[in-house]
Amino acid sequence: MRLKDKVAIITGSGSGIGRATALRFASEGAHVIVNDINQEHGEETVQLIKENGGSASFILADVTNPQDVQALTDNVIGEFKKIDILFNNAGISNVGRLDEVEPDVWDKVMSVNVKGVYLLSKYIVKHMMEQKNGCIINMSSCAAEMGLAQRALYSATKGAVLSLTKAMQVDYAPYNIRVNALLPGTIYTPFVENYLKTSYSDPEVAIEGIKKRQLSGDLGLPEDVANAALFLASDEAKFMMGSPLYIDGGVVFGKNA
Ligand code: NAP
Repeated sequence: MRLKDKVAIITGSGSGIGRATALRFASEGAHVIVNDINQEHGEETVQLIKENGGSASFILADVTNPQDVQALTDNVIGEFKKIDILFNNAGISNVGRLDEVEPDVWDKVMSVNVKGVYLLSKYIVKHMMEQKNGCIINMSSCAAEMGLAQRALYSATKGAVLSLTKAMQVDYAPYNIRVNALLPGTIYTPFVENYLKTSYSDPEVAIEGIKKRQLSGDLGLPEDVANAALFLASDEAKFMMGSPLYIDGGVVFGKNA
């Protein structure tokens, strides 16, 4: 029980990595606040946690909407009086070269992937500062570190999240708050499944291409990232501060020559 009695908020936990992490955190004793923009999927996550004997509740909120985020924060503080862990996981993808990105799409992806991290952190960190304790995990990506084809906008958002993580860590270290980032490679979630279907005539060929750029012969699974998030959230990571943690099957640092 590495997260016994901790209160953890996970944005975008109605699906993929967020859902897997919600299940993992709950299995380690946390009460998980499942947040998503999709009510049905969020409630499904809560149901799955309860079926496994864990504790969770759902709060519908759009991470880009300040009123929603303020209400979510007030709701959790009202009920639990504290927030131990914030996992800024919600994110959306974008495929295409920069010249193909329309201005409204730029704003939308920046808003969910970057402004969402800012808003949740802004409202919740105030309580962590009062508590003199807290852990924030921000979802970046390997795309922050490498030049990936057709990912200009997405990479820019994840680079911003990585920079934000380092700056936040410096400001909040005096309050005993740790801020770290996760950098997954390709993880097989609905997000990636959808991208493969819409961007390639044969998704199987695309999967082989993804495997070629990593050292592992397998695609990453949501549970692989959930395990890394659990480590960062637990006291075992007490010396991890402002760090990028790669879960990428060797994409960034390995070369399969
Ligand atoms: P996913 O399966 O699509 O899950 C993301 C969840 O976030 C969805 O339930 C989505 O709802 C929700 N969401 C979207 N916009 C939201 C908003 N404004 N407010 C609240 N929730 C919102 O994606 P995933 O693959 O698990 O990815 C999770 C995170 O990991 C993202 O930040 C992504 O960039 C990052 N990541 C993923 C990979 C990968 O290979 N999968 C690699 C690196 C980083 P809807 O379904 O209704 O949109």
